[in-house]
Amino acid sequence: MRCPYCGRVEDRVVDSRTADDGHVIRRRRECRSCGRRFTTYERREEVPMLVVKKDGTREPFSREKIIKGIMTACEKRPVSHGDIVGLVTKIERDLGATYEGEIPSRAIGERVMAALKELDEVAYIRFASVYRSFRDVGEFMDELHKLMGAEEEAGDAASPASPKAGKSKDA
Ligand SMILES: [Zn+2]
Repeated sequence: MRCPYCGRVEDRVVDSRTADDGHVIRRRRECRSCGRRFTTYERREEVPMLVVKKDGTREPFSREKIIKGIMTACEKRPVSHGDIVGLVTKIERDLGATYEGEIPSRAIGERVMAALKELDEVAYIRFASVYRSFRDVGEFMDELHKLMGAEEEAGDAASPASPKAGKSKDA
């Protein structure tokens, strides 16, 4: 790192600590040439990605949206919150490594399907059956929520233990 005082590039790190709840590494450096100290900050590169939809329009990549969609597909399945978050983190990392700046919405849907297939067959079928007719994640997520809502209502009679129904177990 070039010294701000003398312009030389040799320095040594005299102190290194995290800041901003682990999002930043702050390094105190000492110039080997003039001996003066300065500070550098290291942050993860934050480049927002865009999702390219089937019709060519773009929208910001939303991790929350994917998590919500998967949670909906996994409703009443033996899939933990940690499973879902871990799955999305893996997908996000993979997308980040494969695409730069823009991600086709299709690539997201396909990765979600592949991951769900390994995680939970029922969640996979729910997700895939709706997704295949849309090929667009945003539109699809909306539809999935509607569908799952309808399924839950229809399923109440058959599943008396439904926690969301607000009915007595023995009714
Ligand atoms: Zn210097």
